[in-house]
Amino acid sequence: MRVPMIAGNWKMNTTVSEATALVNEMRRGLDEITNVDKVICPPFVSLAVVRELIKGSSIKLGAQNIYFEEMGAYTGEISPLMLADLCEFVIIGHSERRQYFNETGEIVNKKIQAALRVGLKPILCIGERLEENEAGRTEEVVTEQLRSSLAGIDYLSGLIIAYEPVWAIGTGKAATGKQSNETIGLIRQNIAELYDKEIAQGVCILYGGSVTAANAAEFVQQPEIDGALVGGASLKADQFLSIVKQTSEIRGRLSG
Ligand code: PEP
Repeated sequence: MRVPMIAGNWKMNTTVSEATALVNEMRRGLDEITNVDKVICPPFVSLAVVRELIKGSSIKLGAQNIYFEEMGAYTGEISPLMLADLCEFVIIGHSERRQYFNETGEIVNKKIQAALRVGLKPILCIGERLEENEAGRTEEVVTEQLRSSLAGIDYLSGLIIAYEPVWAIGTGKAATGKQSNETIGLIRQNIAELYDKEIAQGVCILYGGSVTAANAAEFVQQPEIDGALVGGASLKADQFLSIVKQTSEIRGRLSG
């Protein structure tokens, strides 16, 4: 049985004091829910502070990006070793990084390898753009992104995958539960081909793209979808809490 996960990607939002207030607002409610993994991914500058604030709770911490070298003359970059000391997860290959920072499949692959090397759990984001979706190329694009991201990687210890159709991110236009369930099923099938069936059954695969308290149930009740990567709605304590609560209730019902 895979443990469901709801992860919040705060993107480039919140100052340290705003991050502190947001964590304080959601901490107790999140901590009470124990059958869902709850991960928050604030900006780098707030990681150390948030880490202290969630100490002793069941809330987990992630970063939003990583560089693939461990140390050296890479001004402004954050290394896997630095992150491993601070948090458990790291988002890799988010479409905003692919789009605005020219992250290629090769770079994403290096980052995944770097994260796994130091014991960080990557949340690998893959997903098709609108024109690819409209051209019926979703399956091809997602398969290619998955395979290039995982090239040369022979163990997936802790890897999480987030299927995030690019056209659904931050647009308010989410995919449907049924569509996402099918694509996530295809991702799982690819993992089974690349590794084996047992590994594929164990990998946590999330949906991401305009998930809110109003539509979360549609996704988390699908058999292939293990939870959500939430952007905008993770910046509102009541929304994020409601998404986690709904996931807890639905998953509790389905497994009971
Ligand atoms: C994201 O940033 O990964 C995301 C899914 O954003 P949003 O929920 O705002 O669409």
